[in-house]
Amino acid sequence: MQTSKHYTNQTFTKHVDDEKGRHRTRRSLPEPAVCEICGDIYADRRWTKPNPEAKSERHPHFRPMQLVVCPACERQRSGVPSGYVYVQGKFLAEHQAELKRLLQNEAERASEDNPLARIMDWQTEATSRDPAENRLVITTTTEHLAQRLGHALKKAYQGSVRYGFSQRNKLVRVWWERN
Ligand SMILES: [Zn+2]
Repeated sequence: MQTSKHYTNQTFTKHVDDEKGRHRTRRSLPEPAVCEICGDIYADRRWTKPNPEAKSERHPHFRPMQLVVCPACERQRSGVPSGYVYVQGKFLAEHQAELKRLLQNEAERASEDNPLARIMDWQTEATSRDPAENRLVITTTTEHLAQRLGHALKKAYQGSVRYGFSQRNKLVRVWWERN
């Protein structure tokens, strides 16, 4: 049956692997390598957080480490984000600290899945003369993290969320609002 193909386990697994592939880099680097800025480790064509507790038997790193700059730090250095999250509405003025905490926690969880997913910057922008109408602009190193932050806001505080994708620039903009 043609249609059942879409729902096989195999198809699903493949999709999940594709997601995980986000923290692989196309460009090949000498291995093992360590980012001289954040200390993340590149080995077996994969970026991971340094975690001495979880040293794998399979990958004893006898070769000397190379000093490189990981894609997330490179992006941070270049200052060009992959995602923008705009947080606005009266709810923000009243719950600023709470919202920030939620976003920070979500970003932390995301970095466990993909260490290259990071918040680059937080800015408060005025949209009018009324400070109560300020908006919070968060930039991220990956498109996926911006979307994930949008989902987290919606899930925790409802409100309305909108996603804008630019395929050409590999850029995602997320607008969340609650009044
Ligand atoms: Zn780095």
